[in-house]
Amino acid sequence: MSLIIEEKFKNANIRLTPQRAVIVETLAESTDHPDADAIYRRALKKDNSVSVATTYRTLSLLEEAGILRKLNMQDGKARFEIEREDHNHLVDKENGRIHEFKNAELNNLIAKIAGEMGYDIVNARVEVVGKKRGDTECGCIQINVY
Ligand SMILES: [Zn+2]
Repeated sequence: MSLIIEEKFKNANIRLTPQRAVIVETLAESTDHPDADAIYRRALKKDNSVSVATTYRTLSLLEEAGILRKLNMQDGKARFEIEREDHNHLVDKENGRIHEFKNAELNNLIAKIAGEMGYDIVNARVEVVGKKRGDTECGCIQINVY
């Protein structure tokens, strides 16, 4: 369990039970933006006392506390990731894989648009759905989870 995550539990006043720790660790180790069922299956391998109900409850508790982020993807599926540095997602239309990207120019453009509308940005996420051209490597970045 990373100190940063422990600190976040403390700040949010959430008791760090062994099951919650396993669930958040599982998510922190996952680079694929898993859905709740995938998180449950992975967590269960580490600790057989984790239940489906605990997984769902923990995910919503941690989302409220800002420890993780629920992504409501355009395909209607909810995926999860540890809340961290802002980044955007490019979803592969064929296999559903979610790639992460950052772009300063895009951020500036979003800030400009919001500013012209009289807003300061609190947070911005762009979700792009794409169809891969050929078989090349995507060259995407994976933003570190602590
Ligand atoms: Zn992400």
